[in-house]
Amino acid sequence: MSETTTDSQPLTLPGLLWHTLWFGMVAGLLEALILFTRRFAMHQTVWVSDDFVWIAPLSYALFFLVPGAVLLPLRLARPAWATPRIVAGQLTVPTAMIASLVLLGGTLHWVAHLLLATGIAVQVSRVAGRPSAPVARLVRRTAPALLALLLAVALVFPPARRWQERRAAAGLPGAPAGAPNVLLIIWDTVRAQSLSLYGYTRATTPLLDRRAATGAVFDLAQSTAPWTAASHGSMFTGRLTQEMSIGWRTPLDRSDSTLAEALQRRGYRTGGFTANLIATTRESGLARGFGHYEDFVLSRELFLHSTLVGQRIKRWRPLGGGPLRFYDHKRAAQVTDAFLAWNAEKRDQPYFAFLNYFDAHDPYFAPPDWRERFPTGDRLQNKYDAAIQLLDAEVDRLLAELERRGQLGNTIVILTADHGELFGEHGLHQHGNSLYQPLLHVPLVIWGAPGLPAGSRIPAPVSLRDLPATILAMVAPAAPHPFPGASLSRAWEAGAAADTLVAGAPKGIGTPPHEPVTRGNMSSLLAGTMQYILNGDGVEELYDVAADPDQLTNLAADSSRLGPWRSALGVRVPATWHPELRR
Ligand SMILES: [Zn+2]
Repeated sequence: MSETTTDSQPLTLPGLLWHTLWFGMVAGLLEALILFTRRFAMHQTVWVSDDFVWIAPLSYALFFLVPGAVLLPLRLARPAWATPRIVAGQLTVPTAMIASLVLLGGTLHWVAHLLLATGIAVQVSRVAGRPSAPVARLVRRTAPALLALLLAVALVFPPARRWQERRAAAGLPGAPAGAPNVLLIIWDTVRAQSLSLYGYTRATTPLLDRRAATGAVFDLAQSTAPWTAASHGSMFTGRLTQEMSIGWRTPLDRSDSTLAEALQRRGYRTGGFTANLIATTRESGLARGFGHYEDFVLSRELFLHSTLVGQRIKRWRPLGGGPLRFYDHKRAAQVTDAFLAWNAEKRDQPYFAFLNYFDAHDPYFAPPDWRERFPTGDRLQNKYDAAIQLLDAEVDRLLAELERRGQLGNTIVILTADHGELFGEHGLHQHGNSLYQPLLHVPLVIWGAPGLPAGSRIPAPVSLRDLPATILAMVAPAAPHPFPGASLSRAWEAGAAADTLVAGAPKGIGTPPHEPVTRGNMSSLLAGTMQYILNGDGVEELYDVAADPDQLTNLAADSSRLGPWRSALGVRVPATWHPELRR
């Protein structure tokens, strides 16, 4: 790199390599800069790991070896073609194209992106072609330092984070002697009705069915939201969907205490292990209070596939790609193993761990033999059921290992789901689109809770928003806590008054017209076995979920029954969620 370059001189071979790497790193830095500006300045969700800041430039440095390899034979055949002007122009095309795609996304046709990039490349090559060859000089001066800096960050970033975590854990206040561990296991997208534990005809949860004999099963547990982020937010803060900042594209803000923060203040070591890389990553705000939080896993796949170009290559059919998504690589065993490794670190403190298993979320990561397990019936539902069987086995493995480590005797284990799934009921599929029972009725099993009789079934409807209050009441019964809601102990203690449970979903963004959420913010109330739904366009629905579990008969036609529901909604749900009623 000691030669002096002028535009009339072609680049040397090392000079060509440094140009290739430099433009790749710049492309990655531009992509990271655009995404992090969106995330931190514009508060948009961008779905990338915090490590993206060094992953993207290094990934693109590798990717750019492809155009570099195209330039190499040209340089060998015709050195005169490898002037700084021509090379800088050629390498600016992919660099500017990436920036344009990240910045303007799907608003332009790819030909328009290419034209824009070519225009920028012409301007850059004009500058690069000046007699002093300023671009070649810039590359020569900064490329090795930039590469060294990125490699240093890559080497230092992960261990520095671990060191900081250990330091923070060491600084926790002392926990009361004998304080129990708390393990919150969330099966993403698992509805109660698809579990043999809840009477499903297929043996989807044989191991859980057996383990339930030592715990308590809640027959009618209700999620507060039909989608991940709001439901998790509610389980972490005790707030309702209607009261939180969480929206389809907005994170949980800092206005409420989280369960992890409250337990940390009581001396708990806290760890989050999530496979849902759409809605529960650090940028969702749900990681607050966790001393250790694993969302994206540093791996070769993340390295190669988290950039825009990497994702497009991965999905490119000629290369064997399919409709895979960037988050589809984290499976149940990884979540369990990551937690068990963290759990094995010897500590004197009790712990609170949250695990999210994503295998039953579409596209349903069933074991390979799922077709043999369920040879007849709806293909998607067969796959879903097999994925639930996989989760059943995984959680059994997890609990067996904790038993072997001698922890289960002093651990409160809560197994639930954030929401369910629809397979054509009401003409709907998947979730997030409505407030029908397949989306809100979720499994809930609790083991090791003081006063909760082993092997019991709790028939009273309960809301997952009460989990933070319940957990705090279990670990520190006498101490005040910041959570709204009340301990679920009232569901198993005699004489408690029945509760009215609230759920909600905000107006959909870009959702199809037939989905109820498209019509506006919607709310649901459940009391006893009756569920009232107020749609965003003011249309009301009322169902008896015990007599009519498929919710086929809307009882709202008899408007004399609606008065109490309307008043209850007025009290429980903020006014911005009250549409004008359609009478
Ligand atoms: Zn979910």
